[in-house]
Amino acid sequence: MPELPEVETIRQQLITALPLTIERVQFSSVADSIIKKVDRKITLTGQTIVQIHRMGKWLEMILDNDDRILSHLGMSGSWRLWQSEQAIKHAHVLFHGKNSKNNPMIFAYVDPRRFGKMYFMTSAQACEFRAKLGVDVSSSEFTIDYIAQTLRKYPARAIKAFLLDQQFFAGVGNYIACEICAHARIRPTRKAKSITLEEVTKIHAATKVVIAGQLPKGGLTFQGGYLDAFGEKGQGLESLVVFHQKICGLCQRGKIKKIVLAQRSTFYCPACQK
Ligand SMILES: [Zn+2]
Repeated sequence: MPELPEVETIRQQLITALPLTIERVQFSSVADSIIKKVDRKITLTGQTIVQIHRMGKWLEMILDNDDRILSHLGMSGSWRLWQSEQAIKHAHVLFHGKNSKNNPMIFAYVDPRRFGKMYFMTSAQACEFRAKLGVDVSSSEFTIDYIAQTLRKYPARAIKAFLLDQQFFAGVGNYIACEICAHARIRPTRKAKSITLEEVTKIHAATKVVIAGQLPKGGLTFQGGYLDAFGEKGQGLESLVVFHQKICGLCQRGKIKKIVLAQRSTFYCPACQK
């Protein structure tokens, strides 16, 4: 499932094609399961995508009339950047357009499993939507104080499941949460109230380490089969220390234990993580 590094990689690749003026929008026969046209007055044809932001795992495309296209990649979604139409299965939404040099360019939303979501919104609606998302863990608002205060809200929650909550830690998904706990040397099952301030500091530092380990590698391609906007795999596998590993990448000796926590596969090193 695309998490912060994968979504950010796609964003950085798509913005190389901006501004993109949309000349034609094409939908697959099953695109309705992805698209939630929140505001039906919004027309995309003739509009120009001028910027793309990321909020947690959401991409926000900003049009020149200030309307927005919000896109969540679900389990297996990605945006591809094409110069001409490609014969690829599961391309559900295509923005055919021209870039600033008047060259043809296509933004194609590809999603085999169709758990992705897309909203067409006004900027006011997008603003309301953004207010419901938590602090993006790569932003400057993600501070030691923020983590400490947040953990106090639900003291009985297991830390790893807590980190997955997009209302608080936007951008974190299953592999990142496992890796943060590993780098912070904290067992995923520990209750929020048991986390000391020193450990909160470690969670903060660990989050930066995990994201910095993935971003330059274009994120992680795993079972979801994530591909970036150029159709390439992410090379982040080598940075993992516990997620789907046999031996711990931190101590090089602990045998990784796999458990299910809040319905998600969870990996940790019993030797390193207390
Ligand atoms: Zn270890």
